[in-house]
Amino acid sequence: PAWTTSDSVALHARTQPARTACVDLASGRSWTYAALDEAIQRAVSVLETGFGIRAGQRIATFARNGADLLILQQAAMRIGAIFVPVNWRLATPERQAILADCDPVLLLHDIELDIALPPACTPLDTGRFQTAVEQQPPAPRRALPAADRPSIILYTSGTSGRPKGVIVTEANAFATAVNFSVLGRVGHASVFLCDAPMFHVIGLITCLRPALLHGGTVLIAPGFDPDLTNRRLADLALGVTHYFCVPQMARMLRNGADFEPARWTSLTAIFTGGAPNPAAEIRWWLANGIRMADGYGMTEAGTVLCMPPEADLIARKAGSSGLPGPSVSLRVVDDGGRDVAVGEAGEIWLSGPSITPGYWNRSQETAPVFTEDGWLRTGDIARRDEDGFVTLVDRRKDMFISGGENVYPAEVEIVLLDHPDIAEAAVIGIADERWGEVGRAFVVAKPGRVPDPAALASHCAARIARYKVPKEFLLTETLPRTASGKIQKHILHGWMR
Ligand code: ATP
Ligand code: MG
Repeated sequence: PAWTTSDSVALHARTQPARTACVDLASGRSWTYAALDEAIQRAVSVLETGFGIRAGQRIATFARNGADLLILQQAAMRIGAIFVPVNWRLATPERQAILADCDPVLLLHDIELDIALPPACTPLDTGRFQTAVEQQPPAPRRALPAADRPSIILYTSGTSGRPKGVIVTEANAFATAVNFSVLGRVGHASVFLCDAPMFHVIGLITCLRPALLHGGTVLIAPGFDPDLTNRRLADLALGVTHYFCVPQMARMLRNGADFEPARWTSLTAIFTGGAPNPAAEIRWWLANGIRMADGYGMTEAGTVLCMPPEADLIARKAGSSGLPGPSVSLRVVDDGGRDVAVGEAGEIWLSGPSITPGYWNRSQETAPVFTEDGWLRTGDIARRDEDGFVTLVDRRKDMFISGGENVYPAEVEIVLLDHPDIAEAAVIGIADERWGEVGRAFVVAKPGRVPDPAALASHCAARIARYKVPKEFLLTETLPRTASGKIQKHILHGWMR
């Protein structure tokens, strides 16, 4: 028989019914495992008897993080419906396109609906959903659906173009929970603070699943607020052990008014991922008493790499995104698909139970992403060292060739960020008659500083090969970024045209 979905909330409702499973930090309300299990079973009846939802139908959300999203997702999972949390901060036409793509029958929302819904879609605001969950009796329990059918659709960040809907099965989510749990030292006593968006793989899967799998606790905050996060990490009544953020958010914590890392005594580590986290940054945190462990993943694969949060390892391997989880097979290959030598850059290929079966509605885009024998081509370039630790270099798409040499813009950006005048930097390759392509750097100055292009060029020339030094430095007020802070290079390519 096929493997069925593993339901750790229902399991822990029996092993430890009175233990806290989830706290909604906005309302202060908390659920024990028994209460959460019952709320999910009530939500099952809201969906089935209230809205007639059946297996395979989509339930979308335009909503901030909250326990109701977790309850709705777990209820959809028990029915076999597909949960689609949408980035509500996207522009109206972008959200419209996503709704057209996933065609939901129900839309849970806590923002004003400014768009036309697909004909079969019923809107439901979060307040009404919460009341309905309280009023409906719990549905009778039934067998769980198969673990390899679509359970969630997560849209990618849209860093390189239009977001793609990634199918996530329960088997995928379970594998990510195990991969991260083993590397991130997760156990029964773990307390995760989740203020990363639950429409993203980091928030919905990597932050919530490991704790629920082990019978730990998740603290859900509506969104990231550096001052609140700083206070929460110092609050021993909350006792946060695991916190996830993108590097951009970590920098905001450092600059926050209530930044007192000496008081973060319950914390195992800050886990980062999603975008490059420079070694210098990680060492700065370690010098200030905080272990920062970088990890690597993508919507298509979940979290696959993570630095174990041991201070000596972090110090020795700063800049690396760690080791592959126990269910991950990882290769680093050249353009011909041959494994490269230790220390050489190549594309990461992945296989294992956390890898998506493909994109929703996009079989044509799914096929080229996988090799004939089933490896996921990530499009990310990395190096592996003699101990197996993997360091990300850049996205393959962003690489350009100058005078016959490969240039990875991310390497140049790290050097620029080391300059005292520079707050943010992005480098792209542009056409050049003599060299084929050359680098163009967009830089954002630190407040009150006016960087001089010649000084920036010599700063780079002292640290990286001549052909990597950008030929142009352009000062800008901001860089185009996704909701999670990633620089959108395809938009930069459109600038100055
Ligand atoms: P899209 O696929 O729509 O262009 P995206 O790739 O940014 O957007 P995500 O799935 O959210 O969407 O992000 C995964 C990507 O983020 C990875 O493929 C990689 O390029 C980058 N990334 C993730 N973790 C790290 C890390 N630790 N260091 C550097 N880059 C990372
Ligand atoms: Mg991607």
